[in-house]
Amino acid sequence: MRKTKIVVTIGPATSSFEIIKTLILKGVNVFRLNFSHGDHEIHAQNIEKIRNASKQTQKEVAILQDISGPKVRIGKIDGILKLHKGDTIILSKTENPNNPKELSISYPLIIDIVNIADEVFFADGTIKTVVIEKDEGKLYLKLLNDGELTSHKGVNFPHTKLMISAITEKDKKDLAFGANHDIDMVALSFVQNKHDILKAKEIMAKHDFDPMIISKIETGAALENINELLELSDGVMVARGDLGAEFGVTKLPRIQKHIISIANQANKPVITATQMLTSMKENPFPTRAEVSDIANAVYDGTDAVMLSDETTIGKFPIQAVEVLHESIKDVEKDYPFLKEFSSCNSSDAIAKSAVQLSASLNKEALVAFTNSGYSAQALSRYRPKVSIYAVSHSLKTHRRLNLVWGVRPLFIMKEINNPTKLLYNFVTRLLKENRISKDKRFIVTMGSYKNMRGSTNIIRLLNKEAIEAVLGYEL
Ligand code: PEP
Repeated sequence: MRKTKIVVTIGPATSSFEIIKTLILKGVNVFRLNFSHGDHEIHAQNIEKIRNASKQTQKEVAILQDISGPKVRIGKIDGILKLHKGDTIILSKTENPNNPKELSISYPLIIDIVNIADEVFFADGTIKTVVIEKDEGKLYLKLLNDGELTSHKGVNFPHTKLMISAITEKDKKDLAFGANHDIDMVALSFVQNKHDILKAKEIMAKHDFDPMIISKIETGAALENINELLELSDGVMVARGDLGAEFGVTKLPRIQKHIISIANQANKPVITATQMLTSMKENPFPTRAEVSDIANAVYDGTDAVMLSDETTIGKFPIQAVEVLHESIKDVEKDYPFLKEFSSCNSSDAIAKSAVQLSASLNKEALVAFTNSGYSAQALSRYRPKVSIYAVSHSLKTHRRLNLVWGVRPLFIMKEINNPTKLLYNFVTRLLKENRISKDKRFIVTMGSYKNMRGSTNIIRLLNKEAIEAVLGYEL
């Protein structure tokens, strides 16, 4: 079983039912719908296809809705604007059709916040400029390199705290759509601090929508405030596209390691995203460097790796997933299992002990009976070598655990608050599904199997004799 999870973005190259089904069979755990592209009708069709393909393959995958957030963009440009180092361009609150070097911007008020000597980057950070003059409603920018600009390219302000709400009017409509379409997780783009998450939660609450919240770390402010963002989120994404634009690509490996390490410490899943296999948009094989990049993300401790363009518009989406799967499997032969963390509460201490027990014994699988998924996540944090099976009474939890390293959502079992009965039901279900062999032993963590988070207080070793005792007869 592969432990690091795979997230795949759906797009024109992958939106047929057959391809989605194949991707599930190839091991995709989470499908991402990118709300920066496509309309609600297309997203609704894709959701339906994913749910139907899940049913047919009997694998409950999760759906991640990635909302666009306030990405800052320039306005319209006629054709291509060629730019040369040393030249000056203007960023203006208003459009000026008479001057092609005067660009408008999607959030004009930003112009008031930016100061002389601040840097402003365009087109994924490929065009770098610095503010040399500020006039009523205009910034004069000196170009630090040559480049070309076309309409609506992104703008980054690496050292400026932007006072813009992370939830736009479009995001509000998209969240209402998410609430009506059984979405499991929402990724919030360009969040900067806890107020952005609280705002998103307030909007979600109005729709009675309670998805897993993934904060995309893609700005300097988000990186600075990562601890408070993690506290209010269920996970984070290392959004290397915008992070690379903001900080420069050479700083990315260090930033990636930092974000992953903090997320592991906080016991929250982390997705490493963007340009994992870019060359596979055009070629059926990856480069050596891409495979090394995947391996490094896995060694860093990421819970999941994500494909974007490779599977939305690439020519080889299925091969890209195969390469991801094979590369991860190989790294996991040599993975730094059994990580050390101090436990932060009693459920966590139980998880730590269960993982240590699994390391002292041989050929066990860990099983977490879990309401919210927390106790399965707690086991995962210590990176055990054996499989972690999660049994839950909630489909929501079952699907969410698709994002968590090493956790295999096993099946859904009725809510019951009696440990003896619960074990009996579990063992009979294993027997029925032919999952018990004579030498198989399970280390089970359990507590209240009702809606009570953090109630895990039992570790049971289920060997053959213990299973027979639970069943009341010999196998
Ligand atoms: C990123 O910037 O890396 C990212 C995942 O965000 P998006 O693809 O939505 O720009």
